[in-house]
Amino acid sequence: MVRARTTSLLTLLALALASCSKSGMTDAESSKSDGHKHLGPITVEKTYGGSYPIAVVCTTGMVADLARNVGGDKVKVTQIMGDGVDPHLYKASPGDVNLLNGADAIFYSGLHLEGKMADVFVRMARKKPTFAVTEYIPENRVLDDPEASFDPHLWFDVSLWREAAGVVRDALKAYDPKHAAEYQSRTDTYQAELAKLHDYAKTQIATIPKEQRVMVTAHDAFRYFGRAYEIEVKGIQGSAPRARPA
Ligand SMILES: [Zn+2]
Repeated sequence: MVRARTTSLLTLLALALASCSKSGMTDAESSKSDGHKHLGPITVEKTYGGSYPIAVVCTTGMVADLARNVGGDKVKVTQIMGDGVDPHLYKASPGDVNLLNGADAIFYSGLHLEGKMADVFVRMARKKPTFAVTEYIPENRVLDDPEASFDPHLWFDVSLWREAAGVVRDALKAYDPKHAAEYQSRTDTYQAELAKLHDYAKTQIATIPKEQRVMVTAHDAFRYFGRAYEIEVKGIQGSAPRARPA
């Protein structure tokens, strides 16, 4: 098991860990047939013209965190999924749909993490800037999922989540170009913090003898974590997928 000295990274990730279960994957999520294309440069149809703060609605706490750090006082961030909620299983309530309808812009994690909200995002994207932050990250840094198209759990590699901050920055710059410089400088600061955290985790974990760097888990979410910090991740159920309805 990973020892206590990695606490600060693990604390950062703990909420997300607790709330994410592979068993929540649906057939649609697990289908490779939809052939995800990673998205190109961020554009918006219309820039923001309202008063401040901009009403931003996010799905998970991890995404809301990005929006708060990048947007600062120019945005008011509302997070749909509470801590401890499984994003794979979460269905939008009528209240959530109201929130999304009232939002100026929407950020979600993407790559089917919020698999049961896919239709809602499609609807919202027709009406307002709606961004799946992980889907702008270059494909060569995203892991394939043996059971699905891509592994959505990117935040477990802090250096990758740092890239996701850049996605939120670019989206806000495109949507609210008046404050582009502010989004840029906030992101620079935040990304520097994340880079430090990533390096710290790497250095700390590297002090653990390699043969002890093993993490045992029931969930397949830790492949980015294992790759980034050189930890062997073992699933207690092996690599075989759980039985799911035909
Ligand atoms: Zn998960």
